[in-house]
Amino acid sequence: MRSVDVIIVGASLSAAAAAKRLVDAGLETIVLERKELPRHKICSGILSPRGHRFLLENFGPLPREALHEPTSCRGVTFHFPSMVSMPMDFFGGTTPHLHRKYSDYWAITRSGAEIHDRTSFVGLEDHGDHVMVQARKNGESVAYRARQVIGADGPSSLVIRAIYPDYPQSIPWFFVGQKFHDIIDCPLSPDYFHFWFHPGLGHYTWSHARDGRQIIGVGFKRGDNFAQKHRNVVNYLAEKHGVRLHPHTEDEGCGENFGPSLINRYVFGKGNVLITGQAAGFLNMIGEGMSCALHSGAISGEAVVEARLRNRPVQEMYRRMIASEVRRTTDQWNPLKIAFERPHEADFRAALMALGWRDRGKVLRDLWRFLVLYKEFKWGRQMFSAALQRPLIGGYSMQRWL
Ligand SMILES: Cc1cc2nc3c(=O)[nH]c(=O)nc-3n(C[C@H](O)[C@H](O)[C@H](O)COP(=O)(O)OP(=O)(O)OC[C@H]3O[C@@H](n4cnc5c(N)ncnc54)[C@H](O)[C@@H]3O)c2cc1C
Repeated sequence: MRSVDVIIVGASLSAAAAAKRLVDAGLETIVLERKELPRHKICSGILSPRGHRFLLENFGPLPREALHEPTSCRGVTFHFPSMVSMPMDFFGGTTPHLHRKYSDYWAITRSGAEIHDRTSFVGLEDHGDHVMVQARKNGESVAYRARQVIGADGPSSLVIRAIYPDYPQSIPWFFVGQKFHDIIDCPLSPDYFHFWFHPGLGHYTWSHARDGRQIIGVGFKRGDNFAQKHRNVVNYLAEKHGVRLHPHTEDEGCGENFGPSLINRYVFGKGNVLITGQAAGFLNMIGEGMSCALHSGAISGEAVVEARLRNRPVQEMYRRMIASEVRRTTDQWNPLKIAFERPHEADFRAALMALGWRDRGKVLRDLWRFLVLYKEFKWGRQMFSAALQRPLIGGYSMQRWL
């Protein structure tokens, strides 16, 4: 049995950032990844400027194979049912369009941690001064012993289930699916990620160019019909935007914990087990999760290092250090922050003010109608009340943190 300082579950971006901090501090770290590396990851690969800076500062310039075509993205274009479109450039220029299969492998390799791929985390027992981890590799059980475990295993985290078995039932689950089409004619600019605030299309509707094809994506409540939702969007884009596509040649989808950051309900772990990245609930608006995965992952690694140096409980350290990332992520969803501050990395306010009065009114009305779509959920109502309370109480309600 291997005995190390830290086991990280998952070999994605949050794991790479955590591993970098731990290895730099001299801690022996093993990363467990259930898939064979480099592995596919369903993702649009649109990196925010903050995520880009993190990668550059911590891992260096990205290799060409870690990028899709087009290799960069200028920003996001919002489309509204009133047919107003608002292109918004990222602050500070374009960012790389990541090919997650290779960017994640590049980052985790550069972290310097020891990587055990095709090794699935199965369970753990926290004994106070150490954690026993059970995993499976090629059908065989493998055991590890570590001082701390970091769960960086994404939305359907088994590490969370190991410490809070009922957690998955306490949050809303979505399905996101995307289909890849060869293009006949597509007037949507390939330089932008396109997002529709359209209640008739679904909770989350997007499109962008990748490697000569056009992706059409839809997000909706678990249980709805993917094929029907997707067809609806394809027809809408043809009719309203003149997008003409061949039938799709490929599709993929997955379940998403789309909501914890919306209602400020994160999960950071228990005892010697820390949860980070999207597993913890970090997801920015428009489903941008890479920058907060990187930053929260780094903070989880730093928290382990600091806890050892100061001889303090690691949970206490992590919760104190992660507060800045919580505020940043939760602000992204706060309608009042969006209206009066700049929580995003593209200038919504400037794009809005560039419109005429009439179009501005249409956009605000369409946005409101879109947000009301989320009121049907209990947590959607919580979002509205949380957004209204926050400026009054001047902070975030810590009691929601698990
Ligand atoms: C369709 C779609 C489009 C998206 N587009 C964007 C985008 O354009 N920009 C953006 O910033 N974000 C986007 N996101 C979100 C982004 O992909 C995630 O937020 C981000 O990858 C989260 O990183 P993470 O490190 O927390 O976890 P993940 O990237 O989810 O990685 C978790 C890792 O853990 C491994 N794992 C899981 N279970 C186990 C286990 N039991 N044992 C061992 N290993 C395990 C997985 O195989 C995986 O490698 C998108 C997501 C989807 C679904």
